[in-house]
Amino acid sequence: MMRGRCLCGAVTLEVREASPVLSVCHCDMCRRWAGQAMMMFVAPAAAVTATGPIRRYASSSFAERAFCEICGSALWMRDTGEGAEDAVFELLPGAFGAAADFPIDHEIYADRAWKAHGFAGDHPRIARAEYEAAHRFVPDSAIAGAAGE
Ligand SMILES: [Zn+2]
Ligand SMILES: [Zn+2]
Repeated sequence: MMRGRCLCGAVTLEVREASPVLSVCHCDMCRRWAGQAMMMFVAPAAAVTATGPIRRYASSSFAERAFCEICGSALWMRDTGEGAEDAVFELLPGAFGAAADFPIDHEIYADRAWKAHGFAGDHPRIARAEYEAAHRFVPDSAIAGAAGE
């Protein structure tokens, strides 16, 4: 059992089962939302209990991002829509003290990583083209604002 909370403490999270490894996403959307490269770990929907003032933002036609409406802490990303009722939670590790010991499992959009983000370890670093060939993604043209802003 892992317990987590947002910055202000109004949102609490209980995770009864999870994969104790981190993935890192360097895509533009994750970076804007999380403030920098986004780390996450995966938990099955049935293993997560979240309580408190949670807001959800539909960041694309197939995913939402949840945050505390009081303090703004980013909490998770999750697939939405048809067939996604049992979608896993991609939880942001910052809410969980236990995540401090999680190793990095892989990075995606690794070819877009900031120079400052050279994460250590011999894990797979998957480039944008390789990732987008196998997964749903939001094209640059559909993201608000101009590239590079
Ligand atoms: Zn909060
Ligand atoms: Zn991303």
